[in-house]
Amino acid sequence: MAKRDYYEVLGVSKNASEDEIKKAYRKIAIKYHPDRNPGNKEAEEKFKEAAEAYDVLHDAQKRQQYDQFGFSGPAGAGGFGGGFGGSMNMDDIFSMFGDIFGGRAGGFGGGFGGGQRRPQQHRGSDLRLKVRLSLSEIATGVTKKFKVRKDITCSHCHGSGAEAGSGTETCPTCHGSGVITHTTQSIFGMMQTQGVCPTCGGEGTVIKNKCHVCGGSGVEKGEEVVEIKIPAGVAEGMIVNVPGKGNAGHRNGISGDIQVFITEEENDTFVRDGNDVIYNLLLDFPTAALGGDVEIPTIEGTKLKVKIDSGTQPGKTLRLRGKGLPAVQGYGRGMGDLVVNVSVYVPKTLSREEKEALTRLRDSDNFKGDSSTKRSIFERFKNYFN
Ligand SMILES: [Zn+2]
Ligand SMILES: [Zn+2]
Repeated sequence: MAKRDYYEVLGVSKNASEDEIKKAYRKIAIKYHPDRNPGNKEAEEKFKEAAEAYDVLHDAQKRQQYDQFGFSGPAGAGGFGGGFGGSMNMDDIFSMFGDIFGGRAGGFGGGFGGGQRRPQQHRGSDLRLKVRLSLSEIATGVTKKFKVRKDITCSHCHGSGAEAGSGTETCPTCHGSGVITHTTQSIFGMMQTQGVCPTCGGEGTVIKNKCHVCGGSGVEKGEEVVEIKIPAGVAEGMIVNVPGKGNAGHRNGISGDIQVFITEEENDTFVRDGNDVIYNLLLDFPTAALGGDVEIPTIEGTKLKVKIDSGTQPGKTLRLRGKGLPAVQGYGRGMGDLVVNVSVYVPKTLSREEKEALTRLRDSDNFKGDSSTKRSIFERFKNYFN
């Protein structure tokens, strides 16, 4: 499969802002996240493709290099030979960039490891966090701080894996070729297979003096306080991906991500229905009959004055447009509504005066219910069961 242009992958224009790129990536990452698409290979590929595109485009320096040279590298550097195959992972891609920008082409070292091939890099693994959000936090979006235990860059060797001043030497296992050849006896005769050297990871060189703190991995256990911005409108089961905040990569490799799993707190006042929020209003009988103003609570904790028409029946719904939850950035459209379901409270205890008043009213025709109301109740019940 031909490699798609990074801008095309994220569906943004060449002059998209950092924010637009972030939003576009988030949208794709949420949609194609493997946890939401279990066993779906295509979704997984899309997710990886987007992660790769984002990794380059959200970094100003990498983006500039990509804009200038695309996938093929600067002229005269030899390009990428075999091209990018579908099976290549991020580490492979960046070790190639390192080679081209640092090694042979010269002068491009800064962004890609100071002119050296990055030795034995591993992308750090992803971390998962669960966060419980209240409806009001979901309504506005929220920034949460987490103290995360994870692999951080080794403080002693700053990720290089080497003691200060230690150079590298030719790998004793592969003698510098980076590959090892297995010879096995098979029914077809002697078979030779080649694999990446396990000692040097294909680099051909090993560190002479490994860092005594991290043992050469370039990472150690540590804690970091991570601030995570959760966009407004998220829902139970959604995953917010925070690139680069997971475990540090070995030997200054790319860091993993943090995946934040969203759960919702139960709310005593509202029931969520997508982006709509449902509120059950228990109206007193005189207001239902006479009409009047009532106060409806909102998710943000304020109150809204709502006019109740005279003769309001239980089961009536009022829709307060735009007072529900926002759509997650780039998803769906606009704001949901606050849907008010009206019930009417019938007193359970009555004083003698109240009893007398109601007894008088019972015989009035106005209190007996008309055929159109009976009809509408019938319709409503029919709709429940259909
Ligand atoms: Zn170290
Ligand atoms: Zn080796």
